[in-house]
Amino acid sequence: MATGKAGEVIVKADRLTTLVRAICEADGSGAEEARLVAENLVTANLFGHDSHGVGMIPHYIHNTQAGDCKRNTHADIVLDNGAVITVDGRKGYGQIVARDAMIFGIERAKQFGVCIVGLRNAHHIGRIGAWGEQCADEGLVSTHYVNVHGHKPLVAPFGGAEARFTTNPYCCTVPGPNGEHIVLDFATSQVAMGKVRVALNKGERMDEGLLIDSDGNDTTDPATMFGNGPFGAILPFGQHKGGGLAVMCDLLSGALTGGLTHTPKTSKDGTRDIVNNMLSVIIDPAKLGGHDIWKQDTDDFIKWVKSARPQPGVAEVLTPGEPERRRRARKLVEGIAVDTTTWGQLVDTAKSVGLSAADVTSIAGV
Ligand code: NAD
Repeated sequence: MATGKAGEVIVKADRLTTLVRAICEADGSGAEEARLVAENLVTANLFGHDSHGVGMIPHYIHNTQAGDCKRNTHADIVLDNGAVITVDGRKGYGQIVARDAMIFGIERAKQFGVCIVGLRNAHHIGRIGAWGEQCADEGLVSTHYVNVHGHKPLVAPFGGAEARFTTNPYCCTVPGPNGEHIVLDFATSQVAMGKVRVALNKGERMDEGLLIDSDGNDTTDPATMFGNGPFGAILPFGQHKGGGLAVMCDLLSGALTGGLTHTPKTSKDGTRDIVNNMLSVIIDPAKLGGHDIWKQDTDDFIKWVKSARPQPGVAEVLTPGEPERRRRARKLVEGIAVDTTTWGQLVDTAKSVGLSAADVTSIAGV
């Protein structure tokens, strides 16, 4: 077995994609669905966002088998007002129904100059940047506000001593030359829940300023988020500004789309369900200030920003999306390092849907 520095398994991206496809197909997904789920998750690993990579597969397969994620399900437009549409994901794989929603929205944005898409009731839609990139590949600018419910709250509002919502991501994407888009894509919490779990599993403390305990006091102990409670919470990023954006993400993607916000009505105990809702605004630059001036000024501004003298200890000023592209280029050559806990869970999931350990070894090439 190829192992990395700290008990990691190194797998080539194409092999990992084939393995995830095989798991999804053995679980009952059609070939196209299996491909899209696999490519989406492996891209997250390539980009360095392992919290949204192939480690999600055990969770996804648990949810398909529990009926919380519906295989082979496409999204429908349920409210059609031309440039404003509401799309129901019908609890299908987010990798399918968010893609469907963007296909609808892209077509309308090209027709009307703008399209506002409310996607509700999707299973986990993964890395939000994927949906911004889908729009940017068509030359369109987009912003995306997302909430999550189905499970208990994890993130405290600014000033709050207990959790009220989850990691509510935000994304804004501007097309760049040769597919090098400007992609700002982050959770509005200080840290992803996956990172708290990793620290717990390794017996490590978290950095200061990320978590509070159940009394609302600062803590570095990841265990405050696990067990039987009372639970602590993850803090929102950026003080009142990030905390405010997190609230807006729930209001815009939940209340405004009809997908609902994170309240006791929508959070179930004892479940691993994940529901994502997303409000997307997709804009055709040609229909706003004009394509040529927009493109020239975007290029000029990015060059100007990147020309800033770096701070001591910083090699280079990067634009949002650049760190991910650099990681992908490196990992395509070196392979993806999967930690042995995640690898073990992937193998167990593969076996649970009928693949053998020998199948996994031969598909993954490890
Ligand atoms: P993060 O904190 O790593 O921030 C990533 C963003 O910051 C990217 O746009 C990146 O290009 C930019 N960035 C990072 N370093 C930079 C630098 N030096 N210069 C310029 N830009 C830089 O991201 P995160 O909060 O850990 O989120 C990770 C992923 O998790 C995202 O893709 C997000 O969409 C996803 N997510 C999804 C859900 C969901 O419910 N589906 C929930 C939370 C997060």
